[in-house]
Amino acid sequence: MDANVIIALTNPAMSLIFAATFFLLWQHRRQAYIALLGASFLAIGGGFFLHYFTLYSLALSKLAANFLFLAGGVGFAIGGLARFERNPPVLTTALFAVVGFGVFIWFLFVQPDIIWRIYSLNFAFGAITLTMAAELRRATRRNFVDNILLGLLLVYGVSFFVRPVLVIWIDGPYESYDNIHQSLYWITLSFSASLFLLIFALSLITAIALDVMEELRLESHTDPLSGLLNRRGFEQGVAETLRNSRRRRMAVTLVVCDLDHFKSVNDTYGHAAGDYVIMTFASCMRDFTGSNQIAGRIGGEEFAVLLCGSDRNSGRLFAEGVRAGFGLLPVPHLPGDMRFSASFGVAEWRDGETVAELFMRADRALYEAKKAGRDRVRVDNPLPSPAAPLALSQHTAETAGR
Ligand code: GH3
Ligand code: MG
Ligand code: MG
Repeated sequence: MDANVIIALTNPAMSLIFAATFFLLWQHRRQAYIALLGASFLAIGGGFFLHYFTLYSLALSKLAANFLFLAGGVGFAIGGLARFERNPPVLTTALFAVVGFGVFIWFLFVQPDIIWRIYSLNFAFGAITLTMAAELRRATRRNFVDNILLGLLLVYGVSFFVRPVLVIWIDGPYESYDNIHQSLYWITLSFSASLFLLIFALSLITAIALDVMEELRLESHTDPLSGLLNRRGFEQGVAETLRNSRRRRMAVTLVVCDLDHFKSVNDTYGHAAGDYVIMTFASCMRDFTGSNQIAGRIGGEEFAVLLCGSDRNSGRLFAEGVRAGFGLLPVPHLPGDMRFSASFGVAEWRDGETVAELFMRADRALYEAKKAGRDRVRVDNPLPSPAAPLALSQHTAETAGR
């Protein structure tokens, strides 16, 4: 087999493999954009195949090849951007494709000129790629792989304008398609397309794999009943926050809470009713927690919140808020006038203290709250060197908790 044929088959073969990969991924993750990417690789592969191997007539093959190229390009732009939950620029990219294809047809049938045919398609591709890059730049949640994708799109977008002009200036002009496949234009196009397809596909496959991993991580850290973090997720969040807070010398306070007499709810109304109490408490806690606070269900009817940038006084106020709020809430599927309560323990993190030690102090305060009659907040002992106003505020906190 002639070396040219092998080179000519590289892009169709590679596109076919990537199309198969994306369709396979789509089988497991039924997201339309993955199927669209698979179809786009198929179109690009078909385009390269028809560009080299003429079927029926030369003009028809070129027409079909370039149609597939542009359709694939638009598919790449829409599919690649759909992952970022942005509105893909369907109209803009389709417009570039239609104009590019129209100009191509003009210079194929009306005023045959191969150079302008090359320019029309390359410029349309450049415009589609740069539109995609511009949209991607606006996406807020970009990770390392997404930035590689952005860099790739920028470089390729510009190359579609520069490469044909430069190559035709050096190697051209070309009068017809005769020997076009031995030209510098075709070799640089094939080579750069191979590189693009490879990096583009690998970045997207990696991005999809990272999405899956992130989803699994979130799932393994989330409690399905309450929607809050589970114990594992909460402890990991706490460890991370304490590391950051140590660096920034920020106050951090842990609040632990436990529903009161919960066993009797289960015993009287059944386990399902108990679950509704848990959900009601969780949603109340969520209403009170801000974005820089970590909330979790760390046991059956035990919850915890780590308040960043809050000392134990703010922690006490927070706990009082949740306690009072929860005490007012009716619970679905339970008698309308029934109300429930929870007890709270608050401890401010001391520098150098381990997570376990912090939890122990908060649990001790919670135990005090239970012992004092439940439905109340208790704050752990004052810090080792209390100044007079601090001692006063602690006293106020303790009294208010009663
Ligand atoms: P206290 O006021 O001292 O906290 O008493 P309590 O009854 O709340 O505490 P206890 O530890 O005796 O009972 C907790 C109950 O929580 C026992 C268990 O059956 C129930 N529980 C644990 N997980 C779940 C759950 O996911 N759903 C329901 N419905 N109940 C649960
Ligand atoms: Mg308990
Ligand atoms: Mg309890």
